[in-house]
Amino acid sequence: MVDTAALRARFRSETGADPEGFWYGPGRVNLIGEHTDYNDGFVLPFALSQRAVVAASRRDDGQLVMSSLELDDRQHIALADLRPGTGGWSGYLAGVAWALQQAGHRVGGATLVLSSDVPLGAGLSSSAAIECAVVAAFVDLYGLDIAPMERARFAQRAENDYVGAPTGLLDQAASTLCSEGEGLFMDCRSLRTTPVPLDFASQSLELLVLDTKTPHSHVDGEYGARRASCEEAARILGLTSLRDVEDLSAALERLGDETLRRRVRHVITENERVVQTLELARSRRLEDLGPVLDASHASMRDDYEITVPTVDLAARTARAAGALGARMTGGGFGGCIIALVRLGAAEAVARAVERAFADAGHGPPEWFVATPSAGAGRLTG
Ligand code: ADP
Ligand code: MG
Repeated sequence: MVDTAALRARFRSETGADPEGFWYGPGRVNLIGEHTDYNDGFVLPFALSQRAVVAASRRDDGQLVMSSLELDDRQHIALADLRPGTGGWSGYLAGVAWALQQAGHRVGGATLVLSSDVPLGAGLSSSAAIECAVVAAFVDLYGLDIAPMERARFAQRAENDYVGAPTGLLDQAASTLCSEGEGLFMDCRSLRTTPVPLDFASQSLELLVLDTKTPHSHVDGEYGARRASCEEAARILGLTSLRDVEDLSAALERLGDETLRRRVRHVITENERVVQTLELARSRRLEDLGPVLDASHASMRDDYEITVPTVDLAARTARAAGALGARMTGGGFGGCIIALVRLGAAEAVARAVERAFADAGHGPPEWFVATPSAGAGRLTG
């Protein structure tokens, strides 16, 4: 939980006044649908209870003054001086003001004091959490009229165009549009979203999120290579995107290259698994989700080749320790796994992974039980 009293105290010490309000954006975990977003496919994330919170007030001097409690740092820049690529952590905040300005929204200066309990760099989108919190703050502070999906797009623009990190809309859409107790099925072509009930506890289940703490390496290059393979396969098949593959075996036959075949098989079967997950969630049969999660992991490991040994070890150990299913979540090459377990079993499963990591000479993982939570907004009370 973010300590809002500490945020208020820091805000007061910086400005001599209370903030006009507190706004939050949650981290997110992708339940299923990995590397499907840039293929116009399907994803099904949900928002976490871990969030970034900003204490914020308007300023009339055209300055953005930004502090982070975790980094114990303070940065400032004039709105008039915002330029893409002005790096560092404050780019995730300043980029939002820049994106809003670019679109012609009338925003002024602000003091923004940030604190977040979303694990940083674990693939749980601490970056989108910040962006979406800051969008929510500007919308309220400056009375902007921006529809929810558009808000997510401004957050994405901050990350893609200002910070310079190429990501799909998944993170920001989840952080903006999710509701408590629900996931969000999203069609990445039409951007149509459908809320999905994800009441794990009432089905006597819980979802463990375990951060392997494996440092990501070569992520950008590998990500680019996967995207390029998908584009090449779509071109060979004469399709706009892999989303349009109707007959998987016919498509595989037409692709001469074995690597391309495997990449396509992952994308198409992963889309099918997202739809299966949607149906299981809707019919409140999450208990049957285990094999779908396992199949997703195998597909990422064998066909898309985006897992690493520690992640495979974590998923395998979780299953052996009684999880109904487990998969890597996020872009790959490290990061987190999720494991579906019986209510109350998360700790035992996490301990088993801890032991396996110790035996293999890895540092300890971190873990928590995920709670599907509300998307970005203003904190009340
Ligand atoms: P992820 O989104 O998976 O956590 P990213 O690399 O996309 O990883 O975003 C992490 C970056 O977000 C950090 O390097 C930092 O710049 C910024 N960030 C995250 N949390 C904070 C925080 N509490 N204070 C300042 N910056 C933060
Ligand atoms: Mg991120």
